[in-house]
Amino acid sequence: MSTSAIYEQKAAQGLQQLGLDIALARLDSASQQAAAAGWSYSHYLGYLLESELDERHRKTVELNLKFSKIPVLKRLEDFDFAAQPSIDRRLIDELATGRYLHEGRNLVLLGPPGVGKTHLASSLGMLCAQMGHRVYFTTAIEVARKLALALAENKLHREMKNLTRPKLLIIDEVGYLTLDPTQASLLFQVICQRYENRQAIILTSNKAFADWAQVFANDAVLASAALDRLLHRSTVINIRGDSYRLKEKRQAGASANAHRSDPGSTKEVTAQKH
Ligand code: ADP
Ligand code: MG
Repeated sequence: MSTSAIYEQKAAQGLQQLGLDIALARLDSASQQAAAAGWSYSHYLGYLLESELDERHRKTVELNLKFSKIPVLKRLEDFDFAAQPSIDRRLIDELATGRYLHEGRNLVLLGPPGVGKTHLASSLGMLCAQMGHRVYFTTAIEVARKLALALAENKLHREMKNLTRPKLLIIDEVGYLTLDPTQASLLFQVICQRYENRQAIILTSNKAFADWAQVFANDAVLASAALDRLLHRSTVINIRGDSYRLKEKRQAGASANAHRSDPGSTKEVTAQKH
C-alpha cells in the first residue's frame, strides 16, 4: 500500500473515531472537489469542518426547539411593530442579540390579553434555541402544578432541575390564576434559584406589579421578594393598546361593512350566488 493510501485510510478512521460522521461521509467528494478546483490544504480542511459543524448546529437547534415546548413557533419577523407603538423596537432588537442570556438579565412583558406578549416571548425563545442554547417554555400554573406534584412525590429536586438548567426559562401567563400558598412558594423558589445562578427568565403577565400579591396566594411579602429578584437585572416592557386579534377582527368587520354598504358590491355578491 502506498503511503498516500495509508494516510487516506487513517483520515477516514480518524474522522470516525472522533465522531466526525458528516466530515467522514463527505471525505471523498470533498477530496475530489479540492483536487479539481485546486483548493489549498487549509481550504479543504475548513470546508470539511464547516460541513460537520453546520450539520451539528442544525441538529442542536432542532433538538433545542423540540425540548423548548414553545407551543406555537412565532418569528420576530412576523411581529408587526407598527401595530404596537407602545413597544420600543430597539429594546427588542437588543434582546434579539441574546446578550441578556449571558448576563442573566430578565425580560418582563406586561399588558392586557392579545397584545403580543406570548408572541414576543416565543420569538425570543426561538432565537435562543437557534443560538444553540436550551430554552423551556411553560406557564405559571403549569410550573406550580408540576412542582407541587413533584413535591408530593418526593421528586422536587429533579423537577426543579428542568426549570433551572435551561439557559432561558419562559414563564407565560403569570397572573391569570391565583396560586395556592404551596404553589406560590414553589414558583418563588424557581425565580430565586435562577436569580442566584444568573439565568435569564422571560415572564409575561396581565397583572401590574402592584397586583402581584394576588398571584402569590395573597402573600404580599412573598410577591415583593419575587419581584425584587426578578427586577434586579431586567428589562420591563409595558405593552398597551387593544388586542391584535380583536383589532384584526374589527378591521375585517369594517371592510365587510364597507363592502355591504356599497351597492355595487351587493350586486356582485348576488351575482356570485347565482
Ligand atoms: P398575549 O400573549 O399578549 O395575550 P399573543 O402573543 O398570544 O398575545 O397574541 C395574540 C395573537 O395575535 C397571536 O396570534 C399573535 O401572533 C398575534 N399578534 C399580537 N400582536 C401582534 C403584532 N404586533 N404583530 C403580529 N401579530 C401579533
Ligand atoms: Mg399570552
